[in-house]
Amino acid sequence: MKTENFKLNTTCVHAGELEDKQFGGAISPLFPSTAYPFEHVDEKRYPRYFNTPNQQALAKKLAALEFAESALIFGSGMAAISTAVLAFLKSGDHVVLQKELYGGTHNFIVEEFKRFGIQYSFAQGKNVDDFERALEFNTKVVYLESPSNPLLSVLDIQAIAEMAKSKGVLSMIDNTFASPVNQNPIKLGVDIVIHSATKYLGGHSDILAGAVCGSEAHIQQIHSLAKNLGGTLSDYTVWLLERSIKTLGVRVKAQNRNAKKLAKYFSKNQAISKVFYPGLSSHPDHAIAKKQMRGYGGMMSFELKEDIDVSRFLDALQIIKPAMSLAGVESTILSPAQTSHALLTAEEREAQGISDRVLRFSVGIEDRKDLIADFEQAVAKVRAQQLKA
Ligand code: PLP
Repeated sequence: MKTENFKLNTTCVHAGELEDKQFGGAISPLFPSTAYPFEHVDEKRYPRYFNTPNQQALAKKLAALEFAESALIFGSGMAAISTAVLAFLKSGDHVVLQKELYGGTHNFIVEEFKRFGIQYSFAQGKNVDDFERALEFNTKVVYLESPSNPLLSVLDIQAIAEMAKSKGVLSMIDNTFASPVNQNPIKLGVDIVIHSATKYLGGHSDILAGAVCGSEAHIQQIHSLAKNLGGTLSDYTVWLLERSIKTLGVRVKAQNRNAKKLAKYFSKNQAISKVFYPGLSSHPDHAIAKKQMRGYGGMMSFELKEDIDVSRFLDALQIIKPAMSLAGVESTILSPAQTSHALLTAEEREAQGISDRVLRFSVGIEDRKDLIADFEQAVAKVRAQQLKA
């Protein structure tokens, strides 16, 4: 049967798997060798060439999940982002970026582009017109992230990808927050899809990895630079990531369900002033999210009311872990103002709507009632502490 005909969970489990020809075991064997023959072979294999058996097998699974012709696996999401972006830009070129970006991507651009002589502008709004207005005669790439971190802002991906194509500009998107379960940007016309595989693809908070998916030609261009930059992923982790992706569909669908119900619960809760979740009809981008996403994801943010001390609330949680990173099967929570967006000034954060009271919540697969009970006991504890103080 052809991989293209597999449904989501079959793709997660079987696409690209390696056969255990020696013992007939049910799972892909691990080939950790860094030394392969150079004589009498069609392809000289070496881990930094991204072409070991496990790397190629996992790349096939990822390409299948994103409906791409090809893919590459990297040592981190930032290795994937930096290599993919630099592969298409040279001195004198210009790139248009979405304003709300993951902090690491933002830093990479503002701190490193100057030395390469690459120019950039941030689109001033979220509409296709805002992106079109930001184009210059030398724009080569439009870079998106939807839903965005941390306020789950959603762009009309198809409209922006079509506009970019009509101008001869390459489009790229960081699809980490949605995961391939909820959104396939290549189907919406985007050229290159990037993931921090550290997040939903890994899913257990124990893998650092990245991935890039696209056409054969685009992946070949990224590959040429990738071999020189050397941001490859060790085969041990490649193997573990392949194992993790087998449950991607099951995990993310459980996270979607939990997050949607929790977002509704939070939107009526007395301790919360605002909820940011694209699955809520009150979210400003809900209509676009509904059009282009199969599920609304496991990420949300909410703002605690003034009368609840944020730090005490985080300390009082017992199941939901205050922790950096996201998308594991365990629920985690963080303050963007203290972590991902700490390098922005208070005014810059305010301009993006990220107050010091906003908490980003990565919903896990735990039982929803236990998560609600944890939230309620933490709020009650903080209130009791504040009454005593
Ligand atoms: N993209 C997004 C949306 C992220 O949240 C992150 C990390 O948090 C990255 C990219 C970078 O990924 P990594 O930490 O794997 O380099």
